[in-house]
Amino acid sequence: MKKDHLAQYGNVLLKRAWCSKCRVYSFIIDNERTCCCREYNDEIEDIKIMVAPRRKRKRVKNRKEILKKQNNKCYYCHNRLGYYYERNGRVIKSVIHFDHVIPFSFSHNSNEDNFVAACNLCNLYKSNLMFDTLFDAQEYLENAIKNKRIKILKMP
Ligand SMILES: [Zn+2]
Ligand SMILES: [Zn+2]
Repeated sequence: MKKDHLAQYGNVLLKRAWCSKCRVYSFIIDNERTCCCREYNDEIEDIKIMVAPRRKRKRVKNRKEILKKQNNKCYYCHNRLGYYYERNGRVIKSVIHFDHVIPFSFSHNSNEDNFVAACNLCNLYKSNLMFDTLFDAQEYLENAIKNKRIKILKMP
């Protein structure tokens, strides 16, 4: 019998469920199957340890399009990319990172659609964590940045 489970990659857990329609195991992101977008709301308790595949770097070709789509704002904190922040009394300019929304190790997908532009702080603190929803990620990052005593400066 095909059993739904939490797939463990290192310290990250991701819901994985059998789809009888597509006849594949697919990941559940934002309560939807990644194979066919059918809704999935069940609780899963079983954990299956997976071998983490090696992460490959791929160049992001459509950087400009991604930035335009996001209005030049960070996907997570919505601050204008290139904003300044203060840390230990020093003012630092943030830099842009192109981040996989679904970490590459889960999706095996390096298609451009999978990339978003994020500021270096959100990119750093999110690292390879998975969140059920974008809201969860934003909440986590806001707290992480606050806990590091980083002050986002409102500058042009
Ligand atoms: Zn499916
Ligand atoms: Zn950010």
